Amino acid sequence: MQRYDIAIIGGGIVGCCIARQLARYDVNVTVVEAANDIACGSSKANGGLVHGGYDPKPESMKAKVNARGCELYSQWSQELGFAFERPGSMVLAFNDEDRRTLDRLRAQGMKNGVSGLAIVDPKRIHELEPRASEMAVAALWCPQTGYVDPFDVAISAAENAAANGADFLRDHKVTQIAAKNDGFEVETSAGSLWARRIVNAAGNGCAEISRMAGAEKFNLVWRQGNILVLDREVHPYMPLYPTPTPVSKGVIVTGTVHGNTVVTATAAIREPGDTDTYADDMQKLLDGAQKLVPSLDTRRVIRAFAGGRAVIDGLNDFFIRRSALVPGFIQVAGIQSPGVASAPAIAQKVEGLLREDGAVLHERADYQPLRRPPVDFDQLDIDAQDELIQKDHFWGKIVCRCETVPEAEVIAAIHRTPGAVSVEGVKRRCRAGMGRCQSGFCQSRVVEILARELNCTPEDVLLEDAGSQIVSGPVK
Ligand SMILES: Cc1cc2nc3c(=O)[nH]c(=O)nc-3n(C[C@H](O)[C@H](O)[C@H](O)COP(=O)(O)OP(=O)(O)OC[C@H]3O[C@@H](n4cnc5c(N)ncnc54)[C@H](O)[C@@H]3O)c2cc1C
Repeated sequence: MQRYDIAIIGGGIVGCCIARQLARYDVNVTVVEAANDIACGSSKANGGLVHGGYDPKPESMKAKVNARGCELYSQWSQELGFAFERPGSMVLAFNDEDRRTLDRLRAQGMKNGVSGLAIVDPKRIHELEPRASEMAVAALWCPQTGYVDPFDVAISAAENAAANGADFLRDHKVTQIAAKNDGFEVETSAGSLWARRIVNAAGNGCAEISRMAGAEKFNLVWRQGNILVLDREVHPYMPLYPTPTPVSKGVIVTGTVHGNTVVTATAAIREPGDTDTYADDMQKLLDGAQKLVPSLDTRRVIRAFAGGRAVIDGLNDFFIRRSALVPGFIQVAGIQSPGVASAPAIAQKVEGLLREDGAVLHERADYQPLRRPPVDFDQLDIDAQDELIQKDHFWGKIVCRCETVPEAEVIAAIHRTPGAVSVEGVKRRCRAGMGRCQSGFCQSRVVEILARELNCTPEDVLLEDAGSQIVSGPVK
């Protein structure tokens, strides 16, 4: 049986960032993930906003990790080579009540350690974002807010962790946990392992993992959210927020690192696992977006999708602590929004909890904090592109025309560690299928390449997780 010092259950953005944080030390770390790939839970279906940190209630766990996480993104993006932009954001006020909310948010943000917060007038609003509604009477300007591709963060962190020795056990759903031999015996759908300590970062599965270990009991609710993606803009939008509700930041319009516009997100309690999109939610998104940006051309929508936030019933906060009931068991539960923004700081927090728990963490001599990101052909100048094509003809075969992704990038995505094993896994790693036609043209080519590189038939190739085969028989 494989033995580890630390097993992290859950390979979402949080589990992968924790793995990256711990892989710098001289300990055996593994990430145990139920799905066939990392970042397949909430981490692939969210707005990608690195919120500034003025929204959480002071003293809450969210407040402790949001502002710090937002700050760490500059360093993490440089070390790991993922795209991160920090354009700042505005919360728009449309009446006196909203205006009072801005004052409250500003005071809250200052307590949470967010720097640079300022209330600005309509003139300044339009200097900062000319497309913001002219009906806005004031705004809270937060220079710290940014955005990322959330799955790119998870993948980059995982690749760096793997390069520093961490294992990634995908297709390993944890089914049982028993305290044994001063640690835990963990049964999974693909065999068992032993770990001295466990980090429960299982997202929407965290209540079940806690129950298996005999740790704290809590109920999770699935606070579902729908999101719209619009085609690219020449100038991506600065994130524009309405004033928040008690459970949600409201419908936000934001740019992305690739220039698309995202309208995110609705919030409704739905059946766990529901990732359907709803007409009512779509209407709320369109109405909310047009209030912030009346000129937004909603005919430019290219995709709608949904995800679920793991909310602990009765606790509008993260639950990050050493279990009071089970020694060696670290809870990283209830990671709803702002889990993306907080992930690097959650990883640091977990390191501290492991040390308190007695884990001995010495930095390894060969620790490599830098990850070399894959080549993004589209971003190269014409001479550099030509040089690659001369060396290897796969650079000259464009698979995804919307995003200019050559076959060489698809092949690299499959052979990285941990590499893509599905069409969606390829898409998350190199953007083939992410563009305007949403894989209408390139999906069959990606299936073909996956089959060739993974040595299977096109009928075996998955769209995403188990059972999602696309091709049912020979194709022309
Ligand atoms: C609509 C929406 C919009 C959002 N927008 C933002 C935003 O703009 N900014 C922001 O900061 N946050 C946002 N969030 C929140 C953010 O998406 C989450 O906080 C974050 O993705 C949580 O990451 P995670 O790693 O904890 O969970 P997940 O990504 O869900 O990962 C948990 C993993 O655990 C695995 N797992 C579960 N059970 C088991 C088991 N038994 N064995 C093994 N593995 C298991 C799952 O397969 C999954 O891969 C949004 C969320 C939603 C739904």
